[in-house]
Amino acid sequence: MSVALFTHPAALAHDTGEDHPECPDRVRWVLRALEHPDFVPLLREVAPKVAVEALYAAHSKAHVDGILALPQDRVTYIDGDTVFSPGSLEAALRGAGGACAAVDAVMEGWAKAAFVAMRPPGHHAEAERAMGFCLFNNAAVAAFHARARWGLRRVAVVDFDVHHGNGTQDIFENDAELFYASSHQFPCYPGTGRASETGVAGNIVNAPLAPGSGSEAFRPAWSRLVLPALAAFKPELLIISAGFDAHAADPLAQLRLHEPDFTWVTEELLAVADACCPGRVVSLLEGGYDLDALASSAASHVRALMR
Ligand SMILES: [Zn+2]
Repeated sequence: MSVALFTHPAALAHDTGEDHPECPDRVRWVLRALEHPDFVPLLREVAPKVAVEALYAAHSKAHVDGILALPQDRVTYIDGDTVFSPGSLEAALRGAGGACAAVDAVMEGWAKAAFVAMRPPGHHAEAERAMGFCLFNNAAVAAFHARARWGLRRVAVVDFDVHHGNGTQDIFENDAELFYASSHQFPCYPGTGRASETGVAGNIVNAPLAPGSGSEAFRPAWSRLVLPALAAFKPELLIISAGFDAHAADPLAQLRLHEPDFTWVTEELLAVADACCPGRVVSLLEGGYDLDALASSAASHVRALMR
């Protein structure tokens, strides 16, 4: 069965300013890599705007309404790195909406898996606040959408971005039927993600990796810790926060992964999904700031999704 690719040109109009690593070229480079003949079978879909009610399910009303009320005719710095520009609202709404549409695609069954190539990323956005380049938590919004629209209860988000997804953990940690697992460089931004942070029922799993770690630390962290915990949780839907900034070439962190590591972890996750939730996987672009490494890593990931 086919894999769907959701994107929209609005992703390119979120303008973070000159020299910001989270730049429009990130999505341009990913989409260019996905023009390779290997990707002809992808079902290319438009990322729609999210329904505001879906944002309220993952975020406080104050946070959502605060973002919706930001001026759209000038640039606002939410924090030192998190920018809201005239094009940002549509990009953020279509990022979250693409994630929800990807859930619908795999639940309706016309796609086996789906990849959403949008920006800004989402995993640092907490229930109550935007931070770390992120406005809305696309993975969490998609998880709550899967519950509201499809009646699912047990939804898992796994995250191999080099940074800990503090936002997803914040939104999930007190709900035993939501699962969040992450491998990430530690110490590193945002400072959360210790192994001792385990949620309300072991539903949070953190695998911190020392700066300089490569495959030899990453793969055992997943095969011994994250993947068994995910399988034991038995999700009805698997959402991947797919950041590629753990690549050795990335300028924002110091892990040393390469493209085969992203292929490997994707294949391992598909094997768990096949056993638990007949293969339903939604993958969302998070970080990745070396443009060439991002493009080739994302292509490796999507190629694995298409298996
Ligand atoms: Zn990151």
